[in-house]
Amino acid sequence: MKEKIELVHGDITRLEVDAIVNAANRSLLGGGGVDGAIHRAAGPELLEETKTLNGCQTGQAKITSGYKLPAKYVIHTVGPVWKGGKRKESELLASCYTSSLQLASRHGLQTIAFPNISTGVYGFPKKAAADIAISTVMDFLSDHTEIQKVYFVCFDQENHQLYEKKLQEHLGE
Ligand code: ADP
Repeated sequence: MKEKIELVHGDITRLEVDAIVNAANRSLLGGGGVDGAIHRAAGPELLEETKTLNGCQTGQAKITSGYKLPAKYVIHTVGPVWKGGKRKESELLASCYTSSLQLASRHGLQTIAFPNISTGVYGFPKKAAADIAISTVMDFLSDHTEIQKVYFVCFDQENHQLYEKKLQEHLGE
């Protein structure tokens, strides 16, 4: 398990992996934050493809090509907007990770990188989000050996520190 999870501090658009995950919105037509960075780095063809997808429900995921990105594919998932915690936000966030991994698996992909879904403008508390991300990915990896590597890509210092600590707790590093 330990060798299958890696923490990265930086920009997800730079990773050479089978798929990077985009924290998109339900329109899939681009936005700010990591979504904007991914669309800029992939080029306008990405928007042309996402326009054909008819959006995506919160907690679900859809896949496109990566175009100019070093990643072969982009898996677009829609995280929940934090509304205080009683609107199934935790279940929906876990579902983003599981749905993305299921999609990767169905497409025969082996390496996948996640941003910290919902922890930007969607306002999910970072600590709780990190717990959900790590435990959901670990659960999936324990019965899906086809996935070789999962990268948690933290852009901001706060998330990076949280993940460092939590991964140590979970993996005993
Ligand atoms: P959401 O709407 O799901 O909250 P945001 O894009 O606002 O999405 O933020 C999600 C996370 O993505 C935040 O933790 C933010 O720091 C991070 N982020 C922003 N740009 C990048 C990037 N280029 N690479 C990786 N993570 C990024």
